[in-house]
Amino acid sequence: MSQNILFLAHVSEAGNALPKASYEVLGAAVKLTKQLGANLTIGLIGEDVAAAAETIAAAGTERILAVSGPDFATARYASDAAAAEAICRSAAADLILAPASSRFMRVLPGVAHRLNGCADTHVTSLEADAVNGELRAARWYYRQRIETVIRRDARPWIVLLEPGCEAAWTGMPGPVKIEKLSLPKFATRTTVTGIRAPQSDAQTIRPDADLLFVAGAGWTKKQSDGKTHVPEAEKLILDFLRAAGSSLGGSKSLVDQSGESQAVLRFMTHLNQVGQTGSTPRHPKGLSMCCHGEEPHVVGWRFINERRAVNLDPNCGWARGKADVLYVADAFEVLANLNARLTPVAQSSPEAMPQEA
Ligand SMILES: Cc1cc2nc3c(=O)[nH]c(=O)nc-3n(C[C@H](O)[C@H](O)[C@H](O)COP(=O)(O)OP(=O)(O)OC[C@H]3O[C@@H](n4cnc5c(N)ncnc54)[C@H](O)[C@@H]3O)c2cc1C
Repeated sequence: MSQNILFLAHVSEAGNALPKASYEVLGAAVKLTKQLGANLTIGLIGEDVAAAAETIAAAGTERILAVSGPDFATARYASDAAAAEAICRSAAADLILAPASSRFMRVLPGVAHRLNGCADTHVTSLEADAVNGELRAARWYYRQRIETVIRRDARPWIVLLEPGCEAAWTGMPGPVKIEKLSLPKFATRTTVTGIRAPQSDAQTIRPDADLLFVAGAGWTKKQSDGKTHVPEAEKLILDFLRAAGSSLGGSKSLVDQSGESQAVLRFMTHLNQVGQTGSTPRHPKGLSMCCHGEEPHVVGWRFINERRAVNLDPNCGWARGKADVLYVADAFEVLANLNARLTPVAQSSPEAMPQEA
């Protein structure tokens, strides 16, 4: 059965670029298009999509549709829904693949309703059966403990794919022809007056980072000299995050401390918590320091492919099959050494790296 597949994306508010997660969704769309012998259309939304469209010129599409202009610069339900609906209708799409960004998660289920179709969010894979081409989407429930496989007859079917689950599409940029769609009137009552966000230094959650650095409560505990060294821990961790461009996670014990009037790392919030009652981030690599490696925490590492940990305790949870490599060492020394290697100016007295356990 011939199908029309639509890859739908929005450009970033700052810079009008496509985020990495969008290239991953494009990778999935291109793969399915080939497998199913389908037609691929690209749909883009944002203030100015021209440069982003050029980066995906080689994706093998005949049509690039766009709804763009100042009205589409920032997320707003009415304008985003109208834009997505117009693109889906113009593409006559049966299957719509889009990144699970907060902007799209808010709006695309409503668009599915307008199109008399259906939507699935938080999808981690979308496969076509090799024999009959039937589509199967997978997603996790109950804190990533139960994986379900979804088949649907309803069309159009909007599938929002989670980041970090597919290889990002790559190809040479080139000139493109964009079909700009103009919309009938849509509501513009909501005005975006600004964004309140933590200071840029405090923006430590980076879903696109190659490495997840996870800090545990040990950073704030008394060390061998009988004292705590929280300001030093803060500096070491922030320097590392900056130098390595990694994302920051925390154990529950550490993020809970701020509510218990204990010494805290000031940039650590409950949003950083990884685990059963925290998040389950996806990164190729993870590095844990001063965290014991308890099961309720490690369950959040399910999608971290390569895991390393640093702990003073050779019997900690990481040593029991939870990490690929455990360094039995003082995290303060290891991180100072790592920072010196990552930042050449600070390489005055590099210390020996600890041995692998
Ligand atoms: C229902 C339930 C749900 C939970 N959900 C979560 C969850 O979502 N996320 C989560 O994280 N936890 C969760 N927990 C709590 C979890 O079981 C652990 O208590 C918690 O993760 C421990 O945090 P921690 O390893 O940072 O602290 P600790 O257990 O205090 O460990 C600190 C570690 O630091 C090491 N250390 C100290 N100083 C140094 C140094 N200088 N160098 C190297 N190592 C050092 C110590 O050896 C120690 O192993 C849950 C618990 C329950 C019961």
